[in-house]
Amino acid sequence: MQSMSAPQRFSTETKAQTCFRRLRTRTGLAFCLFTLCFCLRALAWGPHGEITQAALDALGPDDALLKHLGTNARKLVHYCWMGDYRRTPYERQGEFFYADDYLLFPGMERHLDHLVPEVKRTYEPYFRRALQALRTETPLNAARWIGSLLHFVEDTGSPPHSTEIRGDVHSKMENWVDAKLIHLPGYRPQLLGETEEKALAGFLRRMDGLIASSKERGDRCRPLVLADKRAEVEPIVLESALETSRVVADLLHTLGKLHPKPPYRNNSIRGTVFAEGRPLRATHGGPVRVLLLGTTHSTLADSDGRFVLAGLDEGDYKMSFLHFTLLPGITNVSTAREFDSLAWWPFFSTKVEPANLVRNPAFAANWLGKNLPDAWYPTKTAWEGDLIPLKQGARYTLRLNWQNKPGDGDVVLRFRPNTHPGLPVVDSAPFKPGTNEHAFTGSDKMKWAQILIRTTNAPTTLLKSVAITAEK
Ligand SMILES: [Zn+2]
Repeated sequence: MQSMSAPQRFSTETKAQTCFRRLRTRTGLAFCLFTLCFCLRALAWGPHGEITQAALDALGPDDALLKHLGTNARKLVHYCWMGDYRRTPYERQGEFFYADDYLLFPGMERHLDHLVPEVKRTYEPYFRRALQALRTETPLNAARWIGSLLHFVEDTGSPPHSTEIRGDVHSKMENWVDAKLIHLPGYRPQLLGETEEKALAGFLRRMDGLIASSKERGDRCRPLVLADKRAEVEPIVLESALETSRVVADLLHTLGKLHPKPPYRNNSIRGTVFAEGRPLRATHGGPVRVLLLGTTHSTLADSDGRFVLAGLDEGDYKMSFLHFTLLPGITNVSTAREFDSLAWWPFFSTKVEPANLVRNPAFAANWLGKNLPDAWYPTKTAWEGDLIPLKQGARYTLRLNWQNKPGDGDVVLRFRPNTHPGLPVVDSAPFKPGTNEHAFTGSDKMKWAQILIRTTNAPTTLLKSVAITAEK
């Protein structure tokens, strides 16, 4: 919700850090837990889930999208938060995956701001990608991609997002609303267009209307927030939440009408990823990610290592897996063979180091873009790896396989007690070429580890590969 623009990020971090420091003193514990919750919640527009639920309720049980998504449809009330999980794992009710797997793709290589005007650049790419997922991926995968799209639509409808207000007024304005009142009785979702292009044009027009209506309300609310008149702000923000929910209902209804009826099995590539003779099950790092190189196709396998991409353009593809492989593991696949039975699953074996917790450890998978190794996010100063969950008391070893003639730079291990980006972190001393191993232990304050490769050049100018392994 709340965008992490530089000034805002600074102010929220300061608040969260104060809370965290207070957490350490026993006397202030109860107060601090309350304050910490407030700090974290205050970063985001509260009613994402309610806006999505009201839209789902408006669709009616026979809606094509609800039928296609099945039991996954109700997960949209959680997946609509996807955008705010950027750079962190999505962990909820037994699900664990990296949110960036549903936020970044060729054409959308970097995270965008969630406020107008930049958020407008998300609409078309995420609309097309969600529709692509409905046409080519499992309903579970499609629901997650739709969740990403919904996040940006719903953020736009938040008055301070449309009005481009940041800071304290932003947080207050978007949270001064009674989410229980968000319902759309009698609303009949509108079809935004009969073809993909017409629907996209209709969707963009609908978003222009949403921005105009929420901006008008944001302008009206600003002096009221500054004067602390919460009772007067709440009904105005509620109007924006209701209009946002109507847009979401229209969008979901339209997506359901556009995608072809299941089962859509032609031109499919399906299989099971095997490692060491057994299906590669989801582990600490989540399910295996399947990538078709040179395309926008990617998907997550299920917890038994099974995956499917269907409704592809006919032809040959190069497939890679984003997991813990030290080799690129590129497999040639083709849609030439029609699979008409789900019982026939080809098996793809891949060389995996099951003990390694680092995804794409040799930087070999570059699906997102040229010189953009997947699962390594470039910042101004470093390539940041995924957040890796650590077990309390377990011992780990970081292994650095340096280039023979490494370029400028070093490696830092960053530890977090929590995945929230605003909370304080602990950095190791930098590791320079020559240091090949470093042992550490998971603890209360070190629940998550992240590798930072600090160079402005490609990570491969420094390292051949990296690994974090747990001691058995
Ligand atoms: Zn957001």
